[in-house]
Order: sequence, then C-alpha cells, then structure tokens
Amino acid sequence: MSANILVVEDEEKLARFVELELLHEGYKVETAGSGRKALERATEVQFDLILLDIMLPELNGLEVLRRLMKERPTPVILLTARDAVMDKVSGLDAGAVDYITKPFAIEELLARIRVALKLHPAMSAGMGAPENADTGREGVFTWGPLTLDDPRHRVTFHSHEITLTNREFLMLKTLLENKDIVLSRDTLLERVCGYEYVGETNVIDVYIRYLRSKIDDVFDVKVIHTVRGVGYVIKSWES
Ligand code: CA
Repeated sequence: MSANILVVEDEEKLARFVELELLHEGYKVETAGSGRKALERATEVQFDLILLDIMLPELNGLEVLRRLMKERPTPVILLTARDAVMDKVSGLDAGAVDYITKPFAIEELLARIRVALKLHPAMSAGMGAPENADTGREGVFTWGPLTLDDPRHRVTFHSHEITLTNREFLMLKTLLENKDIVLSRDTLLERVCGYEYVGETNVIDVYIRYLRSKIDDVFDVKVIHTVRGVGYVIKSWES
C-alpha cells in the first residue's frame, strides 16, 4: 500500500510541484494551504507522513506540530527557511523527525521522505509513541527521538548522528538497556571499563558529563538523570 502524505504549504506553486512529484513516485497526496486546515485534516485522517512548512497563515507550522503531536502523532518533516536555526531546534524538540531547508532539491526531499517512512512506521500504524518504531530489531534501544543501534554501532537523535567514543557508547547502551533502573557507579564501571579496571569511580561521572555535552546540551533534552548518592538512570520516554 502506498504511503499517504499531507503537504502543508501556502505557496501554491511549490505545493503543486511537490504534490506532482510525490504522485509521480506513487504516493497518495493531499495538500493544505493553511495551518488550521492542515491541523483539521491531520487529526481527522492518519497520514503516514506530513511535510509541514513553518511559515504559514493562521496557525504557524510549529504550533500545528505541537498540537498534532498531542492529538495524533505523525512523522513530520519540516520545511524551513534558510538559517532559521531556532525553528529547526524547536521543531525537532516538538517532535518533528527531520527538516529540509528551502529551497531544496526534489531528490533530497524524496530521499528524506523514504528515510522517514522507513524509520517511523510504528507511529503511522497508530502505535502512538515513536519509541516503538525500532523495537522489531534486536540490539536497538530507543528513548523517544534517541536511538542506539548496537549492531550498527550508531546513535542518532531524530536523524542526526551522534559520534560517541566506545566507552560513551557502552555507557549509554547500559543505561538504555536498564531503563528506569538506577545503576550505581560501580555497576556502570564494571560494564563500561571491565572488571579489571583499577581507578577512581568518578571516571563514570566524567563519561556522563561527556554524554550530556553531546546529547542533552545539543538537543536541549534531559536523557540521563542523576540520583544523588546512588547513581544514574534513564527513565522511560514520556512525550
Ligand atoms: Ca510558507
């Protein structure tokens, strides 16, 4: 069955162009020219994917996105103006899976659409939380938009790749494997540095700090919680 895509764009020429390209690729397509109409339609019908312009009349794209995520979570790719960094960050925070900067090459948009549809099928199957998108594969751990793929040794936040050292990766994996369980520094030390490690346990605090600087600080989220006097924990994702 072909995917059902909603194109939200008030520039008619652009909307029409994207619509034709998507139809040509075999997708089912609807268009909406205002934020209000888009929200109406997207809460009525479950789309597989929404291309959402940010600068829209009536209700801007970010507001549409926020309301949509509450009412009917759907994978969204934002269409943003060049250099609108804050829009991109707020959009990803609000739950968009990706963004593309205007003007874009249609081939790039099509590629991003294919990736988004592949990575986020669970959302469109009415599962709600993006957390479940990858649970079919062994060794894939998720926390909302954060995914750790052990077999591929990859960590991504939405579609942004995060580069971690081996120990940072192991640390994150250990915490994600044990969600909602507070792990002591000793336990983490054993898992991350091995049984033979002799040295200070505060090396764990150092790795936590590195992880936070690469994930929390960059994407403005709180992934790893400190439990004073006990250790660290990643709690279940709540959107
Ligand atoms: Ca616009």
